[in-house]
Amino acid sequence: MNAYNVLIIGSGPAGLFAAMQLEHLGMERIAIVDRRPYPAGGLLNDGKLNFDYRVGIDLDELKIDPDSAQRLMEKVRQSFTRFPECKQVTFVDDDEKIRELGNIAEEHGARFIAPEQWHWGTDNGKSAVDYLRSHLKKTDFLLGTAVTSLAKLDDDTCLVSCSHQRKKVRYTAKAVLAAPGRSGAYWFRDVASKMNIRHNFGPIDVGIRVELNRKFYDAVTDVVYDPKFIFHTTRHGDRVRTFCTNPGGRVRSENYYNFKLINGDALSGRKTGNTNFALINTVSLTEPFSDTTEFGHMIAKQFFLLGGGRPIVQRVGDFREGRRSSRSTFNSATRHFGLCKATYRATPGDITLGLPARIIDNLWESLKTLDKIVPGILHPSTLLYAPEIKFFDTHFITDENLETNVGGIFVAGDGTGKSRGIVGAAISGIIAARGIAKKSS
Ligand SMILES: Cc1cc2nc3c(=O)[nH]c(=O)nc-3n(C[C@H](O)[C@H](O)[C@H](O)COP(=O)(O)OP(=O)(O)OC[C@H]3O[C@@H](n4cnc5c(N)ncnc54)[C@H](O)[C@@H]3O)c2cc1C
Repeated sequence: MNAYNVLIIGSGPAGLFAAMQLEHLGMERIAIVDRRPYPAGGLLNDGKLNFDYRVGIDLDELKIDPDSAQRLMEKVRQSFTRFPECKQVTFVDDDEKIRELGNIAEEHGARFIAPEQWHWGTDNGKSAVDYLRSHLKKTDFLLGTAVTSLAKLDDDTCLVSCSHQRKKVRYTAKAVLAAPGRSGAYWFRDVASKMNIRHNFGPIDVGIRVELNRKFYDAVTDVVYDPKFIFHTTRHGDRVRTFCTNPGGRVRSENYYNFKLINGDALSGRKTGNTNFALINTVSLTEPFSDTTEFGHMIAKQFFLLGGGRPIVQRVGDFREGRRSSRSTFNSATRHFGLCKATYRATPGDITLGLPARIIDNLWESLKTLDKIVPGILHPSTLLYAPEIKFFDTHFITDENLETNVGGIFVAGDGTGKSRGIVGAAISGIIAARGIAKKSS
């Protein structure tokens, strides 16, 4: 049985940046274990980077102030922006057009945020990962290896049980950093419950992905590649925001064991005639049911059932008339549907069958506001795909080093509620790595 000082679960940005920081601090015997054969996590997806502490980071969760966040972000920025394919796509310095967009949004009761943004595109994902990995000289990669359980052997040692090519393998580590991402969140939550690692349920983001002919949104995305509009709805007083915009991009699915979610990305080399973005509603649950993960799973499974195993898509023209979209009229020229050719094959149907009324109200109200800010986005051809759900909802109670109440078990990244995106995940990995190094010195 191999003995490590630090074993990191997950090779996404949280895991890779943690390993880089640990090596930088002189730590030895580090391993990253990932169930996939190639170490990347979500780095293979699109690679839009937001360098603004108001986006993708929860300062309270990380127990840092805006200045520390900005310093950590600068460190991450230097690593990523030295990768030659990573290109700056939004310049924020004193831009008149950004101010103008902010003013128009404010006139309609919405908030507009324009962070500094960089992008490498899904087609450069592998090179981005290889570039980051080339910084790691001493870390062992245990790939194609799924961690199945964790246990404390004694105060200073964790036992990590894994499955590799159907065989059981075990490792020991003085510290374990769990960074399993959204795909491993449900699994880690079970592990945490068994080990009495304290956690609770935070809000969940549930909504749709909007795909439209790019000519309607270019005026905005030419200025800010991934514009963030935030709405507070009048009917329910809820928060809805735009997220993950892909000009010239394509809609994609995110595949889970028993459902599919909608997502989107863009290539750097080949553009489509469409733009897509997520429109998501933040949902908090209290009594008597606060398990937001279960709530999200129920919605996702309902769509899986209704869509015959695929997400559902509805034209705005059909949505307005209260009828489902169907294959026979999906590209109807008389209804002006030809203006936006779907880039993903979802099942034409009715998104109102699978989303709660409160969420539909909030999304539609926000879309109507956005249509006033950016006229044309509610053209009949515009596509509404569902479900788009962001599972950042299980929150682990940690100290300023991201160590849990079980000594030696640290957490980072999206799957443990510490980030919402690549940059935030990387920052949380660095904080945890510093905590681990401090503890072992
Ligand atoms: C289509 C798509 C597009 C996206 N575009 C962007 C974008 O443009 N910009 C942005 O900031 N974010 C984007 N994201 C989100 C981004 O990918 C995540 O925020 C980020 O990857 C989170 O990093 P992480 O390190 O927490 O987890 P991940 O990157 O998800 O890494 C977790 C890793 O843990 C591994 N793992 C899980 N459980 C186990 C286990 N039991 N044993 C071993 N290994 C395990 C997984 O295989 C995975 O490799 C996108 C996501 C998707 C799906």
